[in-house]
Amino acid sequence: MIYADNAATTKMSPRAIETMVSLMNETFGNPSSLYTIGQRAKEVLEQARKDVAEVIGADPKEILFTSGGSEADNQAIISAAKIGARKGKKHIISSAFEHHAVLHTLEKLKKEGYDVTLLDVHEDGLVRPEELEAAIREDTCLVTIMYANNEIGTIQPIREIGAICRKHGVLFHTDAVQAIAHVPVNVADDNIDLLSSSAHKFHGPKGVGFLYAKKGVLLSNLIEGGAQERGKRAGTENVPGIAAMAAALKEAAEHLEENSEKLKKRRDQLIAGLREIPHSALNGHETKRLPGNVNFCFEGIEGESLLLLLDDKGISASSGSACTSGSLDPSHVLLAIGRVHDVAHGSLRLTLGEDVTEEQVDEIIQSVKEVVEYLRSFSPIWRDLMAGKKPFIL
Ligand SMILES: *Cc1c(COP(=O)(O)O)cnc(C)c1O
Repeated sequence: MIYADNAATTKMSPRAIETMVSLMNETFGNPSSLYTIGQRAKEVLEQARKDVAEVIGADPKEILFTSGGSEADNQAIISAAKIGARKGKKHIISSAFEHHAVLHTLEKLKKEGYDVTLLDVHEDGLVRPEELEAAIREDTCLVTIMYANNEIGTIQPIREIGAICRKHGVLFHTDAVQAIAHVPVNVADDNIDLLSSSAHKFHGPKGVGFLYAKKGVLLSNLIEGGAQERGKRAGTENVPGIAAMAAALKEAAEHLEENSEKLKKRRDQLIAGLREIPHSALNGHETKRLPGNVNFCFEGIEGESLLLLLDDKGISASSGSACTSGSLDPSHVLLAIGRVHDVAHGSLRLTLGEDVTEEQVDEIIQSVKEVVEYLRSFSPIWRDLMAGKKPFIL
């Protein structure tokens, strides 16, 4: 078994599991309760907040725990939109290849009278800061651009984008779900006002995440009820999950550099191996990408069949993103970088874990080669391409 779908979710680290189980057993109190068992849970909660804040260079008061990345994205964007509306500013800038948690929230705001500009993503999978600056208007209240893309792994020029937003007095949110714990992120250096993160993308539990909101940025509630999370997110806190997230994040931060170096080697080995397959292409910039992300298009095949046959060989991969599998439309991310429908359908995402070995990467390369050749052997599109009835695109 080789698990190569770490962008979809990761396996919890033993340290995170241990933290979670011991808290579930021993520190089950409600952090809002005044007696000792409750206050013990409150201490654990506040320690987790400090730990998370420290990793990203924030103040603990700027960290709000959520149910994950989607909730954090929703709350950040809706809050900034409301702040804007109070000043008569209802224009939002984002990009065409954001996660659906962002894009669908923007769709909702459009129906409420907001104007949304989606920036083009270039062929290399990167947004251009100068194009962002040109799109800023008098009534722009928010820029939301993801830190690293979940499908093609490209890392955006976040610091520059943040600096442009600061210069123009526009709030800047980044969906950093794929970036946190994988690349160094510092909210002060990167000029970030709002940031979303999710524990299950860095070996923490599912259903837990956090929202960073810079001091002075007034958040609106998505969930009404009790006064938890400084009154900004009602509901009894998931103390074991939150503490396990903090443990996983600290662990990842401690090993970030060595893990990143190791992963980049394996990533580049995989890219070099898959490039040997004729009529294939890497999606996204070769080096400005997450250390473990590889995304390819292979002409003349269906990505879905490819991933199912790889599964038979014990390799877990993805075609497009898990959220869009099952739909006939190719990935909006691949279309955004200019891949045509036919080619975008033949995509494969492999996202490596820190413990992957050189031999396992060789095994992935060998398996992908075999499966692509097999699928092409009876593909009518491939037959037409080979017969010269259709031109090759890749
Ligand atoms: C996974 C992911 C999300 C959603 O996070 P959840 O915790 O699963 O809600 C949002 N944005 C990006 C970029 C992601 O990869």
